[in-house]
Amino acid sequence: MAKQYDVVVIGAGAAGMMCAAVAAQRGKSVVLIDHAERLAEKIRISGGGRCNFTNVNAAPANFLSQNPNFCRSALSRYTPQDFLALVKKYRIAHHEKHKGQLFCDDSSEQIIQMLRAECAAGEVSWRTPCKVAGIEKLETGFLVTAEGGDIACESVVIATGGLSIPKIGATDFGYRIATQFGLGIVEPRPGLVPLTFDGPSWEAFVPLAGIALEVEVSTGSAKAKGKGAAQRGHFREDLLFTHRGLSGPAILQISSYWQPGTPIVIDLLPEMDVAEELIGMKSTVKKQMGNVLAQWLPTRLAEGLLLANGFALDARLADMPDAKLRKLGDAINRWAIVPTGSEGYRKAEVTLGGVDTRELSQQTMMANKVQGLYFIGETVDVTGWLGGYNFQWAWASGYVAGSSV
Ligand code: FAD
Repeated sequence: MAKQYDVVVIGAGAAGMMCAAVAAQRGKSVVLIDHAERLAEKIRISGGGRCNFTNVNAAPANFLSQNPNFCRSALSRYTPQDFLALVKKYRIAHHEKHKGQLFCDDSSEQIIQMLRAECAAGEVSWRTPCKVAGIEKLETGFLVTAEGGDIACESVVIATGGLSIPKIGATDFGYRIATQFGLGIVEPRPGLVPLTFDGPSWEAFVPLAGIALEVEVSTGSAKAKGKGAAQRGHFREDLLFTHRGLSGPAILQISSYWQPGTPIVIDLLPEMDVAEELIGMKSTVKKQMGNVLAQWLPTRLAEGLLLANGFALDARLADMPDAKLRKLGDAINRWAIVPTGSEGYRKAEVTLGGVDTRELSQQTMMANKVQGLYFIGETVDVTGWLGGYNFQWAWASGYVAGSSV
């Protein structure tokens, strides 16, 4: 005989724990299932171990989705201030780091303990580690077939996240269940991920691994095609040269907007119109080109750019034709490069795409055509920028589903 609960939440990560706690504190009987040995591993490793748990500025404009307005309702019903109030209630010391990003002073483990305590306050039952074999729709409610015995319930909440970092337990479970129930999926792809480059045009940049600098980066050239091309990314953040290509916050951010085969455009000196500056200095400055650029850029980068653009390092600025300086200025202020690919799900912080938001109610996260079936968190086609936005989506979508089940 199947055990009976009001709600089964599958996936005890950020969204699942929030949803279970909220539903249970409303008096629902809730069981939270996860297949992993260790709970909430992504919260644990997040923010370099200090969990960037929200962003005080989180707004729909910070999210990517085929329907950019879908997240509006949940984000306004459960705000960063609401989560912050919870963090304060548990006396978790925290600080704002950069652009509204809030981090724990000590450890992301504190956020996990807080969510566990919220679940305990509602007497949530746990089944971990536990594999779910299937979900079947009954006349009223569902039958969940899982290790430890079948469970009958009124509502099932799928909170199994995306495909990023498979080695800590990411699966395509959410997409499979959506497909089983006839719901559409926006094709998943890695987001917030380093981009890779190869071929002869990249060779000059390989020795630059380790160099970091603040840049402006954008996508959305006229050539961009396909789903998501309408959303254009533009960020001012740090860029890092790596052995395989480019990383750092600027690249992670733009990677979510990047469409394969299209360029990203980098302004390596956003404060300056380099061509105008060089042409203006020509008559008064006697320096060599390498020394001129090294005033503004890391020396190795300055040299790499000169070599890649056909300049000898000891060429004198005064001898350079204006047209050549303009070309160099373009290469620095509008460096357009086409990534070969990305580091993939192995390194991606998030998964773009997922359950199509047109299938879900934005007020409750319930599937429009399957009464009682909910999808929350990263499984859904809503993906935040780097900087605490993805957890805010997990909390907000978990909260609205937990308030509705
Ligand atoms: P998850 O937290 O991934 O939880 C999904 C749960 O489902 C897991 O516990 C998993 O074990 C379980 N599960 C999966 N498949 C099954 C299955 N078949 N059966 C049962 N259980 C299953 N975001 C931020 O906002 N700030 C940060 O600082 C930040 N840092 C990050 C750092 C890294 C390295 C990574 C990878 C991500 C980071 N993120 C950050 C993103 C953030 O972690 C995710 O967006 C967020 O965890 C998504 O929450 P979720 O509950 O939807 O999914």
